[in-house]
Amino acid sequence: MSKLRLATVWLDGCSGCHMSLLDIDEALMGVAMKADLVYGPLVDAQEFPKTVDVTLVEGAVSSQEDLEKIQLVRQRTKLLVALGDCAVTSNVPAMRNPVPVKKLLERIYVEGADVHPGVPSNGVPKLLKAAVPLQDVVRVDLHVPGCPPPAGTIAFVVGELLEGRMPELSGKVRFG
Ligand code: SF4
Repeated sequence: MSKLRLATVWLDGCSGCHMSLLDIDEALMGVAMKADLVYGPLVDAQEFPKTVDVTLVEGAVSSQEDLEKIQLVRQRTKLLVALGDCAVTSNVPAMRNPVPVKKLLERIYVEGADVHPGVPSNGVPKLLKAAVPLQDVVRVDLHVPGCPPPAGTIAFVVGELLEGRMPELSGKVRFG
């Protein structure tokens, strides 16, 4: 039986959801037996592959780069999972939403700078007006809340998906 193609994506998040994924410890062996990790911050691949069975996405969509990435990921992924509160609700990244982007950047890079004040423009992704959850811009097949979701929950979710079942999460997850 061919292995399932699994990817993980890190958008505007703190990496805590990826850390929680690594915390599934010995269950990682079971994942490795059934799936190939084809993309993500834990592997070397530079480009998102053309076909992926399951992609776990951490973080909100905050920049133009995030937006283009998640749209590409959606096109190439059969089953897309919003992993963690930032992906599900935009959570922490959304704390900047009440402040207009221009004002936010000036406060940080001009008023807040001790040396070389100036908003960076070279090689820096353009911020969207607001950080938004994945479901605002692409279709999401499964939401897994938590900040981060506990390792046991992630192990359950991935285990079920690898068996070809949609995890039943009612009563098993919570925000925060
Ligand atoms: Fe970090 Fe929590 Fe957001 Fe996950 S949901 S990326 S742990 S802030």
